[in-house]
Amino acid sequence: MALVPCKECGTLNSSEVEICLSCEYPVLGRPKTNWLKGLALLLALLFVIPLALYMIQTVSTQTNEPSSPPAK
Ligand SMILES: [Zn+2]
Repeated sequence: MALVPCKECGTLNSSEVEICLSCEYPVLGRPKTNWLKGLALLLALLFVIPLALYMIQTVSTQTNEPSSPPAK
């Protein structure tokens, strides 16, 4: 069992633990909130993509038919 110094506070932690026992900084360089960032990114994409598609659709509609109303 090796002791790994915390990158944040310098406390020696067991290499078996994932986060510092003192400051909870990820000892193994694997943030415990990693999945949370992924989820936030996913939500952002789910929000941004429809918005982008809507804006592209609006712009292309205005470009294709600048003045005339839609056909019958
Ligand atoms: Zn620490």
